[in-house]
Parts: sequence; structure tokens; C-alpha cells
Amino acid sequence: MTEGPVIAVRGLTKRFGSRTVVDGVDLEVSRGQIHGFLGPNGSGKTTTIRMLCGLLVPDAGEGTCLGLDIRRDAWAIKQRVGYMTQRFSLYEDLTIRENLDFVARLYALKDRRAQVDAALKRLGLTDRAGQLAGTLSGGWKQRLALAACILHRPDLLLLDEPTAGVDPKARREFWDEIHALAADGMTVLVSTHYMDEAERCHRIAYIAYGKLLAKGTVEEVIAGSGLSSWHVAGPERRIAELARTLNGAKGVEMVAPFGATLHVSGQDSAALDAAVAPYREEPGLRWERAEATLEDAFIHLMTGAADNFAGGGAA
Ligand code: ADP
Repeated sequence: MTEGPVIAVRGLTKRFGSRTVVDGVDLEVSRGQIHGFLGPNGSGKTTTIRMLCGLLVPDAGEGTCLGLDIRRDAWAIKQRVGYMTQRFSLYEDLTIRENLDFVARLYALKDRRAQVDAALKRLGLTDRAGQLAGTLSGGWKQRLALAACILHRPDLLLLDEPTAGVDPKARREFWDEIHALAADGMTVLVSTHYMDEAERCHRIAYIAYGKLLAKGTVEEVIAGSGLSSWHVAGPERRIAELARTLNGAKGVEMVAPFGATLHVSGQDSAALDAAVAPYREEPGLRWERAEATLEDAFIHLMTGAADNFAGGGAA
């Protein structure tokens, strides 16, 4: 295994026709890290992942994955990466064991039986080894897909929305496994829409309209948004009214209800305080100054990017 970052790319750019869907992305991921890749649909996450593992050639940019050049050494990179695509791509009419055996043959693994047994055990699939993949629930399918990805013992896992549509318990277990793999030295880049998953990453990167807008630890990304927030709780009706009143008020950039609590945020904390001041003493309302959440920070980044994009990118 090479020293230095597992992924180190600069200026990664991909165009489809006249559209630039990945625009100058710089990314660095260290060994053993779980790196989250966040951003709205269509923002360029899959395209970036495919460039990293040699499946797509960038139009501009350069760098290395596992110490190998992403342009020149695509074949060698593919051998050492486990890539889990968004869609379940194993055979539904084969059993779990048959699927894994098939993948083991593709990689021409030695000691196939032992390797398949080890993967079954690792992912808790041994008791179900004879079950047809097509009859598995979403969570078990994802486990099988993960088992198939790690069968050839890759150094890097690229997981593209691995838990989309999977129930919360299965998601949590899947993430426990990702952490266990990382603790064993595996590096993981994982795209997700779920905030709780983003919070389980060592580092995150946020992309919108093909541009990387923020990166760092969760705390750094929240701090970097520069947002101040208030949370206010009260009777549902009043909270709904207040949401309408505050939406668009000077100093208020975001108003988001969470059950009976409203999150109100903005970058200019003095203007934000002035906007909420008239309602601070209102009986029945409980105000609390709060830390901005990761979701607040992402909504803020996405709104700013959308404004920029609509404005022709003028910053
Ligand atoms: P994400 O993974 O963040 O949802 P993608 O990387 O899949 O985003 O897609 C980014 C944009 O590029 C989308 O608008 C998508 O429609 C477009 N796109 C992806 N692949 C192709 C392709 N092969 N040809 C043309 N457009 C594509």
C-alpha cells in the first residue's frame, strides 16, 4: 500500500456535450478515512466517483487514486477498488453464495470457497447463503452488494448511495460495518443524502452544480457556513404562521419547521436577531439560540449555488 493520500485529485472536470457536470473538483482522502460525498441529485457525485476509479476519463484535471494515475493506470485502479453502484447489480435468480462465487470467479480469486465463506461471515450472511438474492429485503441486498465489493479485498471502497431506500435499522447496521472496515484500514468514499450518515463520516465534501462548495469535518462545514440560528417551539398553528411571517424577512435566510419547532437561520446574526425580536417575548413561544445544523449548512450552500447558477455563475 502506498504512502500518502488514497485519493488526491485536482481540477477534475467532466463535460457531457456543452454541459459541465463536474467542474474543477479538488479532493483529498486519507487512508482509513470514511469520506462522505453530499449534494443534491444530478450535482455530479456519480460522475466524480466514476472518474476516480478509471471508468470515465476526465476532460480536465489530474491526480492519483491509490497512488496510481487516474488517466494512465485506470486498469490497475479498477483491480484495487470496490465500487458499489446505485442500482443493485447482482443476479436475483442466484443465491447469495452463488452471487459471491460468481464475483470471485470474475476476479479469478484463489481459494474461492474460503474467500466467499469469509465474506459471508463478515457480513452476517452465512445463515442465508442459500437464499435467492431476488427474495432479499433492501437492507440484505445492500449487505450482499457490500460483500461482493469487498470480496477481492480492495484498498478503497467507492459507495454510491448505498443505503438509498433502506430502512433505518438496516442503514445503521450497514454503517457499523463501514466503520469496522475502515478500522481495518479500508478507505471509503460514500455518497449519501442522509444527514445522520453524513455525521458518521470523518470528513465530508459537498458538491452542487458540479462545484465542490465545502469540505472538512462536519464541525468545520457548519462553522464555515457562518450561520446563526434560533429555534422556536410553540403551538403548531402559531409556528406555521410564524414560518410564513419570517420567511424572506431581512436577515432571515432560512426558515425550516421540524415538527413543532421552527429553525430560523441567517449569516448576519444582528439582522437575524432584529428579525425575531418582535416575537421573542410572545407568550406560548419558547425561543432558544442554537447551533446551525449540518442540514442548515447544506441548504444554505445549495441556495447560494442555485442563485449563482441562475445568475450565470457571477459571484
Ligand atoms: P449525482 O450522482 O450527483 O446525482 P451525476 O454525476 O449522476 O449526479 O450526474 C450529473 C449530471 O450529469 C446530471 O445532470 C446527469 O444527467 C448528467 N449525466 C450523467 N451521466 C451522463 C452521460 N453519460 N451523458 C450525459 N449526461 C450525463
